[in-house]
Amino acid sequence: MSTLRFQALKETLVRRPVSVNEPARRSEIFGQNVFNENAMRQYLTKESFKAVQEAVLKGTKIERSIADQISTGMKEWAISKGATHYTHWFQPLTGATAEKHDAFFETVEGGQAMEKFGGGQLVQQEPDASSFPNGGIRNTFEARGYTAWDPTSPAFIYGTTLCIPTVFVSYTGEALDNKTPLLRSLQSVDQAATDVAKYFDKSVSKVIATLGWEQEYFLIDKALVDARPDLKLAGRTLLGHSSAKGQQLDDHYFGSIPTRVLNFMRDLENECMLLGVPVKTRHNEVAPNQFELAPIFEEANLAVDHNSLLMDVMDKVADRHNFKVLFHEKPFAGINGSGKHNNWSMATDTGVNLLSPGSTPMKNLQFLTFFINTLKAVNDYEELIRAAIASASNDHRLGANEAPPAIISVFIGSQLTQVLDELEKVTDGKLSPQEKTELKLNVVGKIPEILLDNTDRNRTSPFAFTGNKFELRAVGSTANCANPMTVLNAIVAKQLIEFKAEVDALIANKKMKKDDAIFNVLREYIKDSKRIRFEGDGYGQAWEDEAAKRGLSNNKTTPQALKAKVSPQAIELYEQLGIMSKVEIEARHEIEVEEYAKRIQIEGRILGDIARNHVIPTAIRYQNILIENVQGLKDIYGEGFKKIAAEQMSLIEQISGHIEHINKGITQMIDARKKANTLADMEACAFAYCNEVKPFFDDIRYHCDKLELLVDDELWPLVKYRELLFTR
Ligand code: ADP
Ligand code: MG
Repeated sequence: MSTLRFQALKETLVRRPVSVNEPARRSEIFGQNVFNENAMRQYLTKESFKAVQEAVLKGTKIERSIADQISTGMKEWAISKGATHYTHWFQPLTGATAEKHDAFFETVEGGQAMEKFGGGQLVQQEPDASSFPNGGIRNTFEARGYTAWDPTSPAFIYGTTLCIPTVFVSYTGEALDNKTPLLRSLQSVDQAATDVAKYFDKSVSKVIATLGWEQEYFLIDKALVDARPDLKLAGRTLLGHSSAKGQQLDDHYFGSIPTRVLNFMRDLENECMLLGVPVKTRHNEVAPNQFELAPIFEEANLAVDHNSLLMDVMDKVADRHNFKVLFHEKPFAGINGSGKHNNWSMATDTGVNLLSPGSTPMKNLQFLTFFINTLKAVNDYEELIRAAIASASNDHRLGANEAPPAIISVFIGSQLTQVLDELEKVTDGKLSPQEKTELKLNVVGKIPEILLDNTDRNRTSPFAFTGNKFELRAVGSTANCANPMTVLNAIVAKQLIEFKAEVDALIANKKMKKDDAIFNVLREYIKDSKRIRFEGDGYGQAWEDEAAKRGLSNNKTTPQALKAKVSPQAIELYEQLGIMSKVEIEARHEIEVEEYAKRIQIEGRILGDIARNHVIPTAIRYQNILIENVQGLKDIYGEGFKKIAAEQMSLIEQISGHIEHINKGITQMIDARKKANTLADMEACAFAYCNEVKPFFDDIRYHCDKLELLVDDELWPLVKYRELLFTR
């Protein structure tokens, strides 16, 4: 873009100073806007406080009369903090979060006004839900949807609104959101894991899943984003030649954070503190203008809510700083994209991390039990995990040599590999005393308490054991973590239920000791799940070939990957655990394939518009300048001009060539789109967009990018990569 125009654009926003109110100590403001235990103690009656605590810890129901008391306390607290409105805050199946604000203020008889918020309004609301995606669940005559309070995630105030985390279900009880299945899966894993944990410690009565996410994002000047229709509408650049300098020098990663960005981060972190989101680390990422933010891990439901909330808050805070946050997995071709690592584990109410090796053989047997069961679960349901991370935007990243491939495998490191190799040799049947001693002393007993060996961290694995947790690294940066977390909880719950049944059967039928039975079952699991373990380089063809031999799935596109979500295996899993019914599962699949098709459709339209309305007219203008130049040379030199104007004439021809390719590509793409749109079956439509429409993008882009290199910078109407990536 013309340097002068670019400067003017930058001046409009970049230089406006933004002040940040920094508290002396972060810890002092932590959770100030959250209706947490402290606030509850202050504003609730003893009885209602106890009811909330029990709902959180034991999942008990809250009586309506108690709900009235709670709502009164919550309202008083919210008003004391300056809130004027309340909303049921939920996570519909597409988009980030949704809310509808109602005022506390109501008129009562006699024309007087008062602040009102009763138990009814707290517990249940009936938003007009007809425009949220439902995958055909709601009949047109029954468009009602209900939001219902989730007491396990505390209410909070954002701005002047009291936000009440809720689930969103249809009139007939089907889940219409991301939270409902997550909560059901957490219940399943709680029950299953508690039962197994009791083998090792009878006093365990609850197991929670824990999640620590790491959010990557790009931060780009708002004025520059506004000047790019593709970034503005699709969240990624659909064309643009790479900058002469990109990330080759690796000089951004962990480098010093630019001041303007630091101001944004400080502001954001303050907001997070007020909202009780325990953000902890911030640093530059690999690509220029790419950053990461991570909190301390929390109970999974709360962590998911906090991630959704964070993404919202980031948007708002960025706006104050004249930035735009790009959450897209691949905003720039040729530059690393963004992911959202999901660190996952399970913890007991006795304070034990079940995926953390301990100091005694018994603790380590417990660790191995949960560790090996997780391996087995991932082995059996690898395709479902792949499906859980599928999206049009994440397709750009998976398998692109910067993120894990589309093949799910597990990395466990050399130490644990050795342990599993030893355990595989355990005798079939009852163990001899010598074997037991040997196992206890030299195998199980030798697992070091701290396995965090930094040299042993394979960055190319999609699912890696990192010392005391598993890290699912293939999740996309735009994703709602509820989806992958639901799958992980569900498959591990199912696996643990099976494990317990097998162990109990050996104890009852074969009169085995508990330890013997556990060793016997684990040995079989180690054998059965061998193919999922992969310690090598996950990038490249060699692993793809090897994975194919092992029978692992390699679903490269979203429509293909999503098929696993509606497989008989998946339906059986969810129905057995009561996490989702067939109707709910199929509705979700329908919504996701439709969203995929729509996203590609939108991108196709944007690309067509930019190429025809920005790129080609600009190329023609430049070509006319060249023609004028050649004409002038001819006037001066007569027939001798051919030699002098050879380069210009070649440029004129090249430009025509590119224009021709672009136009042809767009015409063909539009035809393919029209065909895809006639398909009534949503899945078929998604496949058509994937296989027939999308392939034109690359070719159209290639020729546009070539023109960008040829055409006079003064004329080029779009902000270029170097300007987007290196402006701070
Ligand atoms: P990185 O993967 O960037 O090297 P770390 O290994 O330091 O980072 O930790 C990554 C994340 O793992 C942090 O966000 C942390 O909160 C989370 N984490 C640590 N322990 C657990 C756990 N038991 N359960 C879930 N998440 C955890
Ligand atoms: Mg990580």
